[in-house]
Amino acid sequence: MSALLEVRSVTAGYGDFQALFDVSLEVEEGELLALVGANGAGKSTILRTMTGTLSPMTGSVWFDGEDVTSLGDDARARRGISLVPEGRRMFPSLTIEENLRVGAATRRTGPWDLDAVFDMIPLLRDRRRRPAATLSGGEQQAVAIGRALMGNPRVLLMDEVSLGLAPVVVEQIYESLPSIRAGGITVVLVEQDLSRSFAVADEMACILEGRVALRGPVKSLTRDEVTAAYFGTSTEGAS
Ligand code: ATP
Repeated sequence: MSALLEVRSVTAGYGDFQALFDVSLEVEEGELLALVGANGAGKSTILRTMTGTLSPMTGSVWFDGEDVTSLGDDARARRGISLVPEGRRMFPSLTIEENLRVGAATRRTGPWDLDAVFDMIPLLRDRRRRPAATLSGGEQQAVAIGRALMGNPRVLLMDEVSLGLAPVVVEQIYESLPSIRAGGITVVLVEQDLSRSFAVADEMACILEGRVALRGPVKSLTRDEVTAAYFGTSTEGAS
């Protein structure tokens, strides 16, 4: 079976700075892949090469059997690749509902619309007419996820959605994952918290200094192995 989303031998960076070295990753349809690794390891950069906001220096990105390497983020969004960026990035003066509607701009057909998002995160329905600027960090993160879902993506890329949020809010956000996945959406999640990654992921890839240090089904990985790969203390090569 060929992967839904594939990064093939990608090197990428910013100006003269190389952030990724020969990164290859495959994400099968319906799977949840967690990318773990220390600050600056290159996780967000991998997501950027997947969405098309960053072009690789070498290598390619494939989506549903198509080479999308030269396509920009709009074209990829229309094909169903959607990002929940680190830091939420709302339009502060727009209301919640207006922010959600922005996500529908690249709308594909599918189950996600305003009502479906409000059903999943009811607190947003009550606050739909409020400007996003008046929301708490957790509420803004919920809107950011809802906005990405409004485009009915096939792949949802989530970049550290729990960053800076209260544990109870993080819990609520993770509780929405099963309903997101139930609709068949494939998920790539960047998450610093290893326990959380082990709890929700099917597959895990540990990124170390721009390389895939360890990769495999969560069931076959031990916490010690992942921790060693995370900190670069592993004595074994990449799997
Ligand atoms: P974090 O958890 O801190 O977001 P990360 O694993 O997502 O870490 P990246 O953000 O992908 O890491 O960063 C990888 C490397 O690329 C880091 O050394 C970082 O400083 C550098 N980098 C990231 N974005 C830029 C940019 N816009 N310009 C220059 N260098 C960048």
